[in-house]
Amino acid sequence: MQRSDQHAALHKGIRVRSPFMLNSSFVFKHPAVTPANFDFHCHSIVSDGLMPPQAVARRAAGNGVDLWALTDHDDTGGLVEARSTATELGMGFVPGVEISIEWKGVPIHVVGLGFDEQNPVLIEGLDNLRQGRVERARRMGDALAAIGIPGVFEGAMCFVTNQSLISRAHFARYLVSIGIARDVPGVFQHYLTPGKPGYVDHHWVTLDEAVGWINGAGGVAVVAHPGRYKMSGAEMRRFLDDFKDLGGRGIEVTCGSHSPDSVMHFARLARHYEFHASRGSDFHGPEESYVDLGKLPQLPEDLKPIWRLVV
Ligand code: AMP
Ligand code: MN
Ligand code: MN
Ligand code: MN
Repeated sequence: MQRSDQHAALHKGIRVRSPFMLNSSFVFKHPAVTPANFDFHCHSIVSDGLMPPQAVARRAAGNGVDLWALTDHDDTGGLVEARSTATELGMGFVPGVEISIEWKGVPIHVVGLGFDEQNPVLIEGLDNLRQGRVERARRMGDALAAIGIPGVFEGAMCFVTNQSLISRAHFARYLVSIGIARDVPGVFQHYLTPGKPGYVDHHWVTLDEAVGWINGAGGVAVVAHPGRYKMSGAEMRRFLDDFKDLGGRGIEVTCGSHSPDSVMHFARLARHYEFHASRGSDFHGPEESYVDLGKLPQLPEDLKPIWRLVV
């Protein structure tokens, strides 16, 4: 890189690697500049996001994201379009997916990054996982009918944008549309969370399966939004022990649903477990997300950023 380019990059807020850090493996594995703003968690209409993959890519680039992953729930169908738009815009791209798992009865999300999108075991596993969602959605519809709200499965299907991926978010949008609650968080609070009438238990895949698929496809497994799970500190540590034993390597530290205290807490756990740290908005759409693409704090400086494992 020329000095003038370095100057320009610094002015754009991109940190230029010191030449003293260069060695041959570094040169091959990493880009010449570190991403100033990576966002490795968001959704498109391929799952329960509100924008097509190309529009999510454009919004990310417009917000200054320079390395981006699309991580739709249980489906990799948006990655080809996402990559091609990212490439047109000069934004770095990493393939991603957010896999729904169940660990000791607790539903948890594991983000996979940098895997081979053609891997047959991963593709087939995700296909089966999506079919399970349809059966669960029918039971949710039955549960809501039992409290006097009929036709919700069919109604939610009208909000689905990928016929093979139905999520609680689609139920919430339909229930708002018929005036059951004022907004999506309100529906979740009263109808769609554990203990509420529209919530049903479901067997997602195991931690072992999800991490196995991701690693088997050459990717990296990351615990999504750890601050969101209803677990004690001891349970979280047992979960992270299992995750690490199975080959998981990363944890989201800075994310759309973490308070500053949660960031500090999960930064400590990342250090303890020697995990790489991820950063992701979990953006679903301008109307529904508190945090926009790329608009979240930087990771604590001493943590190992996850992008080093996937570029
Ligand atoms: P599912 O994977 O079908 O269980 O649905 C989970 C999705 O529902 C999440 O990815 C969010 O998009 C949405 N969601 C979950 N909890 C809430 C909440 N409290 N408020 C708004 N959206 C939520
Ligand atoms: Mn979602
Ligand atoms: Mn999630
Ligand atoms: Mn998500």
